[in-house]
Amino acid sequence: MQNEVVFSIGDLEHLVLTCANCKTQIAFDVKEGLPAGVPSHRNSMPEQCPVCIGTFDSSVQRGVNTILKTFKDLLENKTANQVVFRMKAPENSKAA
Ligand SMILES: [Zn+2]
Repeated sequence: MQNEVVFSIGDLEHLVLTCANCKTQIAFDVKEGLPAGVPSHRNSMPEQCPVCIGTFDSSVQRGVNTILKTFKDLLENKTANQVVFRMKAPENSKAA
């Protein structure tokens, strides 16, 4: 059986987007569904990188907003008590 790591959506803290142009990272608070860092006053995915002013593709904006809304919906759901992700365990964590 393949080793796997299971983690709860409740343990997720941030979704981090890296600007392809200047490598600035923009962190979004998964629980709040909002950007966590600068510019924290925004309530959705910014259209431009706050540092280099490069415009994000509309598919990236749509994707981030969709993920944040989906995570928020799953975190606030009352009909399923736990949502988890299963992923392959890193090679170095496998038992010898
Ligand atoms: Zn940038």
